[in-house]
Amino acid sequence: MAKNLALDLEGTLWVSLGTTLYPRPGLYGFLEFVYRSFDQVGVYTLLSEVRAKGAVQVLVDQGFAPPVFLERFLYICGPGGVKDLNYFPDTCLEETWILDDSPQVIPLTQRDRWVQIASFEPKERCQSAFGSIDPQPLDQELARVQKRLAQICGLAD
Ligand SMILES: [Mg+2]
Repeated sequence: MAKNLALDLEGTLWVSLGTTLYPRPGLYGFLEFVYRSFDQVGVYTLLSEVRAKGAVQVLVDQGFAPPVFLERFLYICGPGGVKDLNYFPDTCLEETWILDDSPQVIPLTQRDRWVQIASFEPKERCQSAFGSIDPQPLDQELARVQKRLAQICGLAD
């Protein structure tokens, strides 16, 4: 069975404050895991495609995200407001999950497809780490989520 994952961006993978992006510690390795483990990875965000891709470009250029994030960039065009996974192209609902920090964007009928993650809140130590290149240790929440996604993919610990 194919496995597909839709990724929220803001609050899930990073937080943007003004023009600065604060990536979750360990984002690089997490995204490598995601692209290695899932057949298709889509970006499902309330940001426009241009803004989303621009942010991904910045993170790749700065070494916080692997090039595959840009090379296989797949933007999911949904109806807006909620993130209906039926809009993930060439997939079916039973094979598709979404990683998101916002309960309100998940349709009630698709709660079983939702992998919840606590919103990232950058702290001072993250700011001081900004500018350095991964590998950084995963933050605890990202580590927990990675285990959950590995279970979904049938990967042993
Ligand atoms: Mg979010």
